[in-house]
Amino acid sequence: METTWPFVYNFPMSYEGKAKIMKDGPKEGTLVMLFKDDVTAGNGKKKAVIKGKGKINKAITLKLLKLLHDNGVPTHLIEDIDDRSILVKRLKIFPLEVVVRNIATGSIVRRLGLEKGMVFKRPLFELFFKNDDLHDPMICQEHAFMMDLIYPDDLLIVRNLSMRANEILKQYFDSIGFDLVDIKFEFGVDENEEIYLADEISPDTMRLWEKGTMTSFDKDVFREDKGDLLTTYTEVAKRMGLKIEGI
Ligand code: 5GP
Repeated sequence: METTWPFVYNFPMSYEGKAKIMKDGPKEGTLVMLFKDDVTAGNGKKKAVIKGKGKINKAITLKLLKLLHDNGVPTHLIEDIDDRSILVKRLKIFPLEVVVRNIATGSIVRRLGLEKGMVFKRPLFELFFKNDDLHDPMICQEHAFMMDLIYPDDLLIVRNLSMRANEILKQYFDSIGFDLVDIKFEFGVDENEEIYLADEISPDTMRLWEKGTMTSFDKDVFREDKGDLLTTYTEVAKRMGLKIEGI
């Protein structure tokens, strides 16, 4: 296999995203991930600032990344910094969004006409091309290889890690009264070409339903104007045993 990196993405420098800011960390090879209070949906078309959301998502992400690490999934988490930030490894991020689905809803229902709430016999693994201009289109693995977004061997690893992470999180959320409906993961490699799970893991990046119902405890509350996002996220944090000051 070639040793050069296949696509144009390089180690990211500081940048501000829709819900987070990535800044250079104190040591080489590190980044500070700062969680903002901004929430967006529909590729930025719908926006709001929800005071306290950043703190909650930071606390949830920290706990879930630790849970995955403790269960054998390598993640980019290095350490906690403060109530809004964590220190993470600087990675070259594959320009892919990996979605694992346990129950049908969202884009797969619109795309395939499935019944919302249908429970899949086994988790479904999907790939999307991370590209705002194209609205993150769904792709198949052949497209990913054709565009040199990822090597086949690396995609196998990413698939296995995604399935394992989904299983760990599904069990965890089940134990606190939620069905993990679907979840988006991102992955990257460090300077040694080791693969790590990256990004945040929060109700912004997954769907949680009250167990046995279709009641949302995630960003769909904002996307579909179904209630108060802060109250919803606070309840998730509470069931996770998190105490967040000022919330
Ligand atoms: P869907 O494809 O049904 O819209 O989304 C599937 C899952 O991936 C949902 O849990 C959704 O929150 C997450 N997801 C998909 N795309 C994005 C994205 O661009 N940003 C975030 N935060 N989550 C996403």
